[in-house]
Amino acid sequence: MKRIVMVVMLAFCACGILQAAPLNTKESHIIKARLVPAPQSISLTDGADVVMDKSIKITLACRKDETLAEKQIRKTFKAWFGFKPEIKIVKPEHVEKKADAYRITAEKGTLAIEAADAGGARNAIRTLRQIAEPVRGTGKLEAYFVPEMVIDDAPAMAFRGFHICWFPENTPVQIEQYIRLAAYYKMNSVVLEPWGTFVSKTHPELAWPKSTMTVKEVRRLVKIANSLGVTLIPQFNLFGHASGSRGSCGKHVVTDLHPELQPLFEPLGWTWCLSNPKATQLIEDVVLEMHDAFGKPPYFHAGCDEAEDMGTCAACRRTDYAAVVKNFLGHIHDVLAERDCKMMIWHDMLLKRGDPRWKGFYANGSDQAELMLDGLPRDTIICDWYYGAPNKEGTWPTMRYFKDKGFPVLACPWENLAGYRGLSKAVQREKLDGMLCTTWHHLYGRSMMQIYFRSAHATWGTLPLGGYENLVFSKHLRQVGWDIPIKNYEDTGYYNNQLPAKNHSPR
Ligand SMILES: [Zn+2]
Repeated sequence: MKRIVMVVMLAFCACGILQAAPLNTKESHIIKARLVPAPQSISLTDGADVVMDKSIKITLACRKDETLAEKQIRKTFKAWFGFKPEIKIVKPEHVEKKADAYRITAEKGTLAIEAADAGGARNAIRTLRQIAEPVRGTGKLEAYFVPEMVIDDAPAMAFRGFHICWFPENTPVQIEQYIRLAAYYKMNSVVLEPWGTFVSKTHPELAWPKSTMTVKEVRRLVKIANSLGVTLIPQFNLFGHASGSRGSCGKHVVTDLHPELQPLFEPLGWTWCLSNPKATQLIEDVVLEMHDAFGKPPYFHAGCDEAEDMGTCAACRRTDYAAVVKNFLGHIHDVLAERDCKMMIWHDMLLKRGDPRWKGFYANGSDQAELMLDGLPRDTIICDWYYGAPNKEGTWPTMRYFKDKGFPVLACPWENLAGYRGLSKAVQREKLDGMLCTTWHHLYGRSMMQIYFRSAHATWGTLPLGGYENLVFSKHLRQVGWDIPIKNYEDTGYYNNQLPAKNHSPR
């Protein structure tokens, strides 16, 4: 009898009918928790682990960019797994056509990667790196392995943006770390906003002394971002936030050290004086210089939020101010359009403050807000920021309003978990153009983990598979550190230091 069972089992195996069973719940939970963002679908089975060393058989199937994808996989395998694999090219069968989609099948000592394009192939390797574990029982790393599995994945939206601020306190290594981590979490666009840090050749007074965001440094970061499939987008505030410093700190990058340049700003210094041709020319010079430094990308973020003291100088307050702003923004739009570059803009000055339609949302515009909005060319991308939870109805009236007016709209969350999830669903449901997840001055410590986790899951439309969150994040940060590579104590982890710089005993 036993012999008959064995013969039947062998026959099933030979026909491939005997499938591996699902991996047990405990192990499955441990492994899935490593993936950020969680994939659309993952099935782990209890077959033998697939060791990723020179003996592994890898097939690649790409719907397009096959040559680039193969080159990237070989190069990244060498960097991350220590060897350049031989890759057999086959025809794609299962993977979605959506840009950046991928499928991984690991079984019986083989690895099959299917990708919609080069972006999909990059995403597949990122997932492999997150899930891989060093072969056990050795003193030094010999190889990694992955469990038997099938992963099918595709993003929930095409534009998956991350907005990073470069403060005087940030180092180039940190900014590189932020960009690499956004790429590792499968986002494809990073807006980089200098806070009094961009060292302009034409207007050096716009940066604090010893600023590190030089044109040379920007070019280095653009090159890295491009190699990771990320578009690095410059930002310069054309309207409010002209102090280049946080409102709550009372600093002003230009007039604190150069009082002679006061006429470029409104008397209180927060907003550029847009009726002053010297100010508008300076802004245009810097916009073009930054656009050049960033390698002429297809987007430029013009800021334009919270212009609290707009139109308050003697010249501005006696003009048709909405027309002044509209004409200036239209001009910068056209200058960028000549370079095939689209202008992005924060939304809040384009909604009238106090209008009951925007109750609970951010609206900082004047009575002329709608006039200003209607004057904008319809390819201006409205970045609608909202940092709270969804309202009771789960509706987002401001985003719908801009979309109905004919603008592309990006949803811009920050920190609030329900906000990320609600906005992600709204973008998908209402067919908006994507998300630009903001970080501001919270990109360190525990909030850094939350911001990255939530942004990654919102843009891929999935929920975390749970567990070990701080440890998972530290691990991913460390892996990105290996890529840089990081050598200094302060650049490791998500806090620079474990103790205050100079402590002393209490009195
Ligand atoms: Zn003015």
